[in-house]
Amino acid sequence: KTRIFSGVQPTGNLHLGNYLGAIVNFVALQEANECIYCVVDMHAITVWQEPAELTRQIREVTAAFVAAGIDPVKHVVFNQSQVSAHAELAWIFNCVARIGWMNRMTQFKDKAGKDKENASLGLLAYPSLMAADILAYQATHVPVGEDQKQHLELTRDIAQKFNNDYAESIAAHGFGDAYFPITEPVITGPATRIMSLRDGSKKMSKSDPSDYSRINLADDADAIAQKIRKAKTDAEPLPGEAEGLKGRPEADNLVGIYAALSGLTKDDVLREFGGQQFSAFKPALADLAVDKLGPVGGEMRRLMADPGHIDAILADGAARADAIARPILDGVKDIVGFIRRK
Ligand code: ATP
Ligand code: MG
Repeated sequence: KTRIFSGVQPTGNLHLGNYLGAIVNFVALQEANECIYCVVDMHAITVWQEPAELTRQIREVTAAFVAAGIDPVKHVVFNQSQVSAHAELAWIFNCVARIGWMNRMTQFKDKAGKDKENASLGLLAYPSLMAADILAYQATHVPVGEDQKQHLELTRDIAQKFNNDYAESIAAHGFGDAYFPITEPVITGPATRIMSLRDGSKKMSKSDPSDYSRINLADDADAIAQKIRKAKTDAEPLPGEAEGLKGRPEADNLVGIYAALSGLTKDDVLREFGGQQFSAFKPALADLAVDKLGPVGGEMRRLMADPGHIDAILADGAARADAIARPILDGVKDIVGFIRRK
């Protein structure tokens, strides 16, 4: 039986990369699967978040999920901190995972920067909490962007080590030869890695200090057009086929965005725009982006006008998530040898 889990951090500025790399796939997977989509507020505070802003951003990610087409009645949408199984299982995983595994994570190295001693302990343990998010539901498939591949490999390592370390106890408690599934990453869809508009070597990120590096779902038409106009490019005209984008990361990114938003291949896009200058391509890309993202942004703003409704969606989702995770966590406690109130 498949079960889908994924999360998005309420760290502000939901952008085109989150949309094409994650949320579009969340929507598509709903059709044939049981899906759990989480606003991971506990992950967000691994770097400082202004409290009132965090609250607003939790609602904004929820609004984006619903505006993009996630059905919070058929599926489960909630914020992580409302279901304590995440924190409880994360602690147990902190004791399964090794410090060396965490130290090797490129996201930690990027986000901690030079002063690693001064990063929060939570930032180091981030992948352990992520493993808990997924495995608290015994999820089998996790749709994510390319940047999360390494963390998902670590989730598999943690599941494997737990299954091995506790193999005897797992069997003794009647759970067979493995308690946690070995989760499959789902890194597919139109664009698994959208790059920054300012730097073709960095991924588009919520936490990039430059707002010109990304197109936000909440941007209006003028902002989208201006950001695309200012996007970094080289001076060459567009090539006639995708092959010609090699070694031109900024051009590759913009053509990739056009392809993803229009449902075409890069070769299709270049059949139309090959030989043309960016001064001609950028306005076409801006129109397309406004066309595709405008309605999502509009619906987000409409939903954000009623915070009580969003909070009710999250409360209902949290109750249903808790009902799934609770017995799975109870099993873990029995396997580990804890005594629990029955
Ligand atoms: P932050 O900078 O705070 O880490 P983020 O932009 O990386 O923010 P996350 O909440 O960490 O966003 O990730 C949510 C989902 O979006 C994940 O599945 C992640 O892989 C995906 N994602 C993030 N950035 C991109 C991108 N540039 N292209 C494609 N997918 C992306
Ligand atoms: Mg991220």
